[in-house]
Amino acid sequence: MSTLTDIAISPSLLTEKIKAQARELGFEKVGVVRAEALMEEHAKLEEWLRRGFHGEMRWMARDAEQRTDPRKFFAEARSVVVVALNYFTPQEHAQKSSSGKISRYAWGDDYHDVVGEKLKRLLEWIKEEFSGAEGKVCVDIQPLMDKAWAARAGLGWIGKHTNLITREYGSWVFLGELLLNLELEYDEERTEDHCGTCTLCVDACPTGAIVEDYVVDSRRCISYATIELRSDAMPEEVSGNLDGWLYGCDVCQDVCPWNRFEQVTSENRFEPRAGDTSLRLSDILEMTHEEYVERFRLSAMKRAKLSGLKRNARALLKPE
Ligand code: SF4
Repeated sequence: MSTLTDIAISPSLLTEKIKAQARELGFEKVGVVRAEALMEEHAKLEEWLRRGFHGEMRWMARDAEQRTDPRKFFAEARSVVVVALNYFTPQEHAQKSSSGKISRYAWGDDYHDVVGEKLKRLLEWIKEEFSGAEGKVCVDIQPLMDKAWAARAGLGWIGKHTNLITREYGSWVFLGELLLNLELEYDEERTEDHCGTCTLCVDACPTGAIVEDYVVDSRRCISYATIELRSDAMPEEVSGNLDGWLYGCDVCQDVCPWNRFEQVTSENRFEPRAGDTSLRLSDILEMTHEEYVERFRLSAMKRAKLSGLKRNARALLKPE
């Protein structure tokens, strides 16, 4: 077993070993950056919050400082290991008036569990290998700006639709971070923005939620309305333009030319649960709480709660 004294004299070897272990665990991309405040990204977040684009996601405003400075979340943090896990499976969305489409990210098992489990295994391995190492696992729920950290670590660039795009897997990747109390060797190279003059996602959004290049107004976003919004009714401009989406929306990613580089994931937990890429609206409306708990136990879809899914199903069935 190495000690932190050894670690201090060989950050580059340590970084190499951690990256190799992360790849061994299945992560397709790994980058390492210093745990410090992201000043530019923080200013953008503040402006986005000031414009009210976070809607009812009040926790985003509450944790704004932590989101861009991991030391506010884990005081000993010296480094951020950022990982990406490909989740693309080859099934297509089916458009049927009797069913509601599910966003691709929620077809399989809950990525919080899958990515979280892999990151926990990585942290355990680091702690076993290097005495004195400590860390914190972050997968979406913890207050960290995943996409900003991934871009900073060189995993890809943030597209005009505000998702992270990798050159190798498109935007079908889950992100996660491991905060460590270790000094490591840091990736300096960023991925250039390859959106260029393309505006396909901006033009295709059914509700016009990409209000400017690289700026999404969540209040107009189908994903936000069908997953995060807790009120009984959706804003009219969203409910009238749902385009068949019951849970989340993939339109901006489906039209993105960078997703022609999609590759099928080797993680079989991302295969659609029960083969479903959509759900019958009548089944949702008739679903009891017990059935809901059983059906969505390991799924990210439980985020919307049964009341949210029923509201979405009713909105889809509403006559034009
Ligand atoms: S659709 Fe075009 S503009 Fe939008 S994220 Fe993809 S490349 Fe960028």
